[in-house]
Amino acid sequence: MSLKRKVAVLGATGAVGQRFIQLLQGHPWFQIEVLAASERSAGKKYKDACPWLMETELPKEIAEMPIVNADVASVEQAGEVDLVFSSLPGDLAGSVEEQFGALYPVFSKASAHRMDKDVPLIIPEINPDHAEMVKIQQKQRGWKGFITTDPNCSTIQLAITLKPLMQFGLKQIMVSTMQALSGAGYPGVPSLDIIDNVVPFISGEEEKMEAEALKILGNYNGYTVQNAEFQLSASCNRVNVKDGHLESVFIKLEQDPTIEEIEEVFAKFQGEPQKLKLPSAPVNPIVVRHENSRPQPRFDRDAGCGMSVVVGRIRKDPIMTFKYMCLGHNTIRGAAGGGILSAELYVSKGLA
Ligand code: NAP
Repeated sequence: MSLKRKVAVLGATGAVGQRFIQLLQGHPWFQIEVLAASERSAGKKYKDACPWLMETELPKEIAEMPIVNADVASVEQAGEVDLVFSSLPGDLAGSVEEQFGALYPVFSKASAHRMDKDVPLIIPEINPDHAEMVKIQQKQRGWKGFITTDPNCSTIQLAITLKPLMQFGLKQIMVSTMQALSGAGYPGVPSLDIIDNVVPFISGEEEKMEAEALKILGNYNGYTVQNAEFQLSASCNRVNVKDGHLESVFIKLEQDPTIEEIEEVFAKFQGEPQKLKLPSAPVNPIVVRHENSRPQPRFDRDAGCGMSVVVGRIRKDPIMTFKYMCLGHNTIRGAAGGGILSAELYVSKGLA
C-alpha cells in the first residue's frame, strides 16, 4: 500500500497554515499540491499574500505557488489532491469542511465539527481507536471522504498528560492556562493589549477545554463516543509569550500514588504512533523535568521537535491529590504537527 498523498492546505496563510507548510517540507508521505485561503489572498503568489512568520526560510517552491479560494471547485482546478488539512477560522470551517468532507479525508484544526457525534476528536497517542468512527460518518452522511478533528491546542497537551493518570482513577481536574500569542492567530492580540500585561479571558477557550477532554478520553462503543466521567474546570489567560502554552494543573485521583509513581507513568507513556513509528511521532510524548524552574515556554516548547509535552513541578497538593505544570507547543503539537500526526495515523491504518 502506497503511503504517499498529495495534500491541500486550507487557511495556508495563517499562523497554523504556515506551520503546516513548514512541517510538511520533506515529509516522507505528504506533498503539498494546493494552497487555499480567503478571497483577499486568492490569485496572489504565496510570498505576496502573507508575512512568513516561521524561523526557517520560506521554501522557494511554496513562495511561488498561487493561492486559490478555499472551495472544492477552486482546489480541484488547481491540482489533484488526496487529502485536505484545514486551518480555517472556526466560524467558516463548518460548511467549507463539509463540502470537502463529502469527497476527501479532511483533517481539521477548527472547532466547528469537534463535538459532532459522528466526528472523531483525535490525539493519536490517546484514542486511535476513535478514528474508526469515520466509517460510521461516511455511511450516515453518504460521503466518499470524511471529517476528523484535532482538539483545541490547550486541550491537547493537557489530555496527553491525563491519559496515563487514568489508571489511578481520575476524579477532578482544575487547570489554569498561560497561553501564547500565536494561539490567537495572526496578527492576533493588539500589542497595546498585551505588552506589560496578562489578559484573563480567551473567548470560548474554557468551554472547549471542559468539553473536549471528556470526549477524547471517552470510550468509542463502535457507534459513537461515551464521554469520560471526570470533572474538569478550566481558567484561561493570554500571556506575552510568542509560542508555547503553560498550564498549572491540579488533580484529584481515586488512588494516592507516590510522586515517583506519577513521574514513572508520565515518562513511560507511549501510544500507537510510537509503536507504528509514524514519521511525526516523538519518541517520548511526555518529557518529565525535575528542575524547580521548568518547564518554561522558551526552553521547553521545542522538546521532541515541538511534539512532546513537558511536565514538571510534580508535587503533592493539600486539597487535591497532586499538582504539576505542563507545557506544549501550541502551533506544533497543538495544531499543525498534531494534524499531520493524525493524518499519518489514518493513512497507516488504511482509513485515508
Ligand atoms: P489565522 O492566523 O487568523 O489564519 C486564518 C486563515 O484562514 C488564513 O489563511 C486566512 O486567509 C484564512 N481565512 C480567513 N477568512 C477566510 C475566508 N473567508 N475564506 C477562506 N479562508 C479564510 O488563524 P490560525 O491561528 O492559523 O487558526 C486557524 C484555525 O486553527 C482556527 O480555527 C483556530 O481556532 C485553529 N487553531 C489555532 C491554533 C493556534 O495555535 N493558532 C491552535 C489550534 C487550532 P487570509 O490570509 O487570506 O485572510
